[in-house]
Amino acid sequence: MKSIGILGAGPMGLACAYYAQKKGYKVTLIEAAPFIGGMASHFELSGTSIEKFYHFICKTDFDTFELLDELQLSDKLIWKNTSMGYFIEGKLYKWGDPFSLLFFEKFSLISKIRYGLNAFFTSKRKNFDSLENLSAEEWLKSWIGEKAYDLAWKKLMDYKFYEYSSSISAAWIATRMKRVGNSRKSIFQEQLGYLEGGSETLVNALADKIKDDGGKIIINSPVTNLMISEKKILGLEANNEKLYFDSVISTIPTPYLDEILGETSLDFRNKYKQIENIGVVCVIYKLKKGVSKHFWVNINDERFELPGLIEFSNLRKIENDLKIIYLPYYMPITHEKFEKNDEYFFEETFNYLQMLNPNLEKEDVIDFSVNKLKYAQPICNVGFKENIPPIQTDIEDLYIADTCFYYPEDRGVSESIKLAKTIIEKIVI
Ligand SMILES: Cc1cc2nc3c(=O)[nH]c(=O)nc-3n(C[C@H](O)[C@H](O)[C@H](O)COP(=O)(O)OP(=O)(O)OC[C@H]3O[C@@H](n4cnc5c(N)ncnc54)[C@H](O)[C@@H]3O)c2cc1C
Repeated sequence: MKSIGILGAGPMGLACAYYAQKKGYKVTLIEAAPFIGGMASHFELSGTSIEKFYHFICKTDFDTFELLDELQLSDKLIWKNTSMGYFIEGKLYKWGDPFSLLFFEKFSLISKIRYGLNAFFTSKRKNFDSLENLSAEEWLKSWIGEKAYDLAWKKLMDYKFYEYSSSISAAWIATRMKRVGNSRKSIFQEQLGYLEGGSETLVNALADKIKDDGGKIIINSPVTNLMISEKKILGLEANNEKLYFDSVISTIPTPYLDEILGETSLDFRNKYKQIENIGVVCVIYKLKKGVSKHFWVNINDERFELPGLIEFSNLRKIENDLKIIYLPYYMPITHEKFEKNDEYFFEETFNYLQMLNPNLEKEDVIDFSVNKLKYAQPICNVGFKENIPPIQTDIEDLYIADTCFYYPEDRGVSESIKLAKTIIEKIVI
């Protein structure tokens, strides 16, 4: 029986292990953190087990559906009518459906038509290759005009990508718009999904299945070195132990690879080093009162330094009708704010929440937490496709992928599952 060592027990690593076992391989998953699930992992927020980073499911997440079916979890998938708002200079507008666009007072009639056409054609688009050499900014401006871009998109891009915001690929933004745009019951009604119990329902079911079928999951064990000899992978080192495998698959964020590929050439390592990521500081509140009826609220208001917030309990209800709100600050990890402490983020974000709901008081806060991630989102610039190294590396039996390898699709659990399946069924020999 061929043995495979898999780095990372996020959705991609877990799914790789699951599909590899189905194919008859002997599997060992090695995870750095003391928990599994990666970006989709949970934590306890005063008695509620919840994602560290909000997670919703879209109607086109077919690979998640297929896996849920195989694990007999399809009945845990719940769909909910959701809505979007846009907080612009102190006023909350309804957003994200044709009527809201029609009645949106800040766009001219021409902008409304152009915006609507862009949304419609992007949701129907099948191929994104022709957008590969255009920036999101150029492409969106060409559709909706400069004024509408500045109002509806500029702040969102700036507070997600900072100095990179003008060079983000149009193909990347368009696939993202398509995924969310198609998650609807009808043209007028957005619908999003969640798993009963949250993302850990799937993560834990995968882990149980892997272990039941004889696989091993080792946590608390950052891989510190990949052992290579004469361009062939031999195994890896973790916790000062050497583990030998026939094949190794890495699913960890590529920026970590430089440290563990010490035995390879600089040229080889540079392929991964050049892929940049931004980090996230994700603030989460458990509250007695919410701020709106919407699942997400985009923000374009001079007083706010973030692109939006997610009132997660408008998708997945929690006990006693308490409210869960996430405020994600994406930013390059070199930004001074990344290192700020929890008190700083509490003061800033509580102030934001009060701007949306002036009746909210500090006594309404049941719990609050801050989760940080250094590599939360690959920066997919114009022409990014060219930068993605092959999954099957020059080193025999070493396979490398992370969330940017399914570009132009944005990172997502379903895409990580899909790529895992492809790696095992089509690439690993
Ligand atoms: C704020 C935020 C919101 C999101 N919202 C959604 C959403 O709504 N819907 C959705 O589908 N997706 C969402 N995602 C994306 C989704 O979480 C990811 O696409 C998915 O988790 C990626 O899985 P992965 O296994 O590819 O990577 P990861 O989850 O990053 O897993 C990689 C694993 O590798 C481990 N690792 C790192 N270094 C080492 C090492 N040296 N040795 C061993 N292990 C190591 C890490 O600890 C981690 O567990 C969101 C992500 C973020 C950050």
